[in-house]
Amino acid sequence: MEDNYVKNAIKKYTMMNREQPGLNVDFSQTTAETCESCGNDTFTQVFQMRKLSALLSPTGQETMIPIQVFACAKCGHINKGFLPKE
Ligand SMILES: [Zn+2]
Repeated sequence: MEDNYVKNAIKKYTMMNREQPGLNVDFSQTTAETCESCGNDTFTQVFQMRKLSALLSPTGQETMIPIQVFACAKCGHINKGFLPKE
């Protein structure tokens, strides 16, 4: 279980660091995401840190893996939908 989580975290980490292809999105087809806690609609980038034990790390050293999430700019709440799925 924990092992799987770490694998997924690494996969996400790799995906995040890959360059994003240019998005071509019709804004009328998007919906505003608001804070579940206070209804605010602006967010700020924050990182959750996951620690990968030396035993599982490909480098053999304890590794910190930053997981990028978005927190409400007003109250700091992180919507459930923004969190990496465990
Ligand atoms: Zn909020």
